[in-house]
Amino acid sequence: MQNIQPVIDSIYDIMQSRLGEGKVADYIPELAKIDPKQFGMAVTTVEGETFVAGNAQTQFSIQSISKVFMLTLALGKTGESVWKRVGREPSGSAFNSIVQLERESGIPRNPFVNAGAIVVTDMVLAGHQPREAIGELLRFIRYLADDETISIDNKVAQSEQATGYRNFALANFMRSFGNLHHPVEHTLGVYFHQCAISMNCVQLARAGLFLANRGRNPITGHSVVSDRRARRINALMLTCGHYDGSGDFAYHVGLPGKSGVGGGILVVAPGKASVAVWSPGLNEVGNSALGSEALEMLANEMGWSVFGA
Ligand code: GLU
Repeated sequence: MQNIQPVIDSIYDIMQSRLGEGKVADYIPELAKIDPKQFGMAVTTVEGETFVAGNAQTQFSIQSISKVFMLTLALGKTGESVWKRVGREPSGSAFNSIVQLERESGIPRNPFVNAGAIVVTDMVLAGHQPREAIGELLRFIRYLADDETISIDNKVAQSEQATGYRNFALANFMRSFGNLHHPVEHTLGVYFHQCAISMNCVQLARAGLFLANRGRNPITGHSVVSDRRARRINALMLTCGHYDGSGDFAYHVGLPGKSGVGGGILVVAPGKASVAVWSPGLNEVGNSALGSEALEMLANEMGWSVFGA
């Protein structure tokens, strides 16, 4: 394999002159305060080596990247019956769109648009208090990353709780169709806290490593999911991980990934590595502008793609 460190160092150098591009998410007031001139990257290989560049140790709000971990939990809990309440098709719509929901009777297109993620959270909430469900997710992420220090930024959670009108609309709408089984405040309470989990690139790359290694974390030896389930989660990230920018991301990067409005992106190069990149400025579809480009450069340089040998 080509030497990774010089590749990410040169990507970092290129990004240095472009820091601040894109637009920080401002619909969550607490996220609007983040300095956009930051860029970090971490690559953890399936051999267990980690390479970093830039602000790889700076904590950021993982936002929608949490949806991958919550889906993994829901699949573990309820298996394939997850798909009775949420679909597996790309939406071609914005992350918080409500239009398809009415036509499709309250069944969201996929688990990575907000509506779908809210339903998935509702599944994990079954039989629990909201506090227990968020605790379960946090423990799971700490276990995946092998890092007990990972925590929730309560200010971000409260900021979103106070302004999450769209998410309340989506949740109420689905409740009216019977596709939300708990009170809207409970499910959204968990959802806002999962989005407010703070991680840095190193922690995130490690947490995603099981998806690059047939469901098993090669560093800790933990078997997290079966090989088949890891493939399926990767398939969903490839087709639905970047909202209405998913096709474009597959075209340019060619690897499964999940973005968040905090500016983070988790990407999986199966059999090779897990990659986390963070830069807060977002492009027009809500994915990190510099992060997306950095991943394209990395995939090109390393020859990583799920579409070719
Ligand atoms: N917490 C965000 C929201 O629900 C997540 C969106 C995202 O990261 O794409 O609006």
